[in-house]
Amino acid sequence: MSRFWSPVVHTLTPYVPGEQPRLANLIKLNTNECPYGPSPKVIAALKAAVDDTLRLYPDPTAQALCATIAQDHGVPTDHVFVGNGSDEVLAHAFQGLLNHENPLLFPDITYSFYPVYCGLYGIRHETVPLDEAMRIDIADYRRPCGGIIIPNPNAPTGIALDLSRIRALLDEHPDAVVVVDEAYVDFGAQTAISLVTQYPNLLVVRTLSKSSALAGLRVGYAIGQPDLVAALTRIKDSFNSYPLDRLAQVGAIAAIEDREWLAKTTGKIISSRNRLTDSLGKMGFEVLPSQANFIFARHPDRDAAYLASALRERAIIVRHFRTPRIAQWLRISIGTDAECDALVTGLADVLAQNG
Ligand code: PMP
Repeated sequence: MSRFWSPVVHTLTPYVPGEQPRLANLIKLNTNECPYGPSPKVIAALKAAVDDTLRLYPDPTAQALCATIAQDHGVPTDHVFVGNGSDEVLAHAFQGLLNHENPLLFPDITYSFYPVYCGLYGIRHETVPLDEAMRIDIADYRRPCGGIIIPNPNAPTGIALDLSRIRALLDEHPDAVVVVDEAYVDFGAQTAISLVTQYPNLLVVRTLSKSSALAGLRVGYAIGQPDLVAALTRIKDSFNSYPLDRLAQVGAIAAIEDREWLAKTTGKIISSRNRLTDSLGKMGFEVLPSQANFIFARHPDRDAAYLASALRERAIIVRHFRTPRIAQWLRISIGTDAECDALVTGLADVLAQNG
């Protein structure tokens, strides 16, 4: 608390990111990063870009990157907006598209940055409870609203909605922007990008942090009609006119162009996810049906906070949330098969020690 702070600073409850430990030799399954390094073509492109041109400002419109993204998704270039990670793209969307008189709607159990942005930008919002199976029921969104944001698949549950449901939401709310946050879509869910040309109220947000293994490069983007992209651009240009640095632009292009690497890597992660889901099921865990690069699991009679700390003592970190409805669940990022096996061994050890 400080007398020098603007009043809004006192009202904020900032986002607390997953731990990024400095210790080596930890099995890190807590922040949904990719367990494999990025495409070798990305590394080569980045190395080649480290030269004297770093003295120059980057292209403020990231034209080459936007063109690559547009081509990848089969949309015109004016449908693309890029930013420093999808968190930044989302921030602009909250500020520029989702702040209206009627409340913004999002699930009660979802990405915990959403309420943080609402606090930051003073956005009225209502949370909509997940159903008893921890799914988003779009029937619950049938009410007046100033916008809707949902991750698909949802986080931290991993459960995806199919395209017909997204379409129904869009039809139901023609006068509100529906943001579909597709951070995890490459791990088995259906993308809504094909609906963008048909729905002026749809914005799809993507990241290279998960399936492209580039969390460290900070690249995210949005796909929507030019009217929505123009709002995001106005916000960006009002405080930061360089969306991405030179290296991020180069690395992102190389990543998007290497479709073969993406398909191979996401395939491996999906098969590891299925394997881990089976193993935990055999140990008595309930595991939600995930279409993401993490699973959400609970044990019927073991305390999740205890399990997380017992794993931590065994040098394995997973994510535990204190939110009451999900306090008995663990979110476990999919690692390599060897890392998943170590997790299973660690959990078996903890369960055996306690009868
Ligand atoms: N959306 C969701 C649902 C997420 O889980 C995350 C990662 N924490 C993000 C967006 C942001 O990812 P990034 O800023 O790395 O693109």
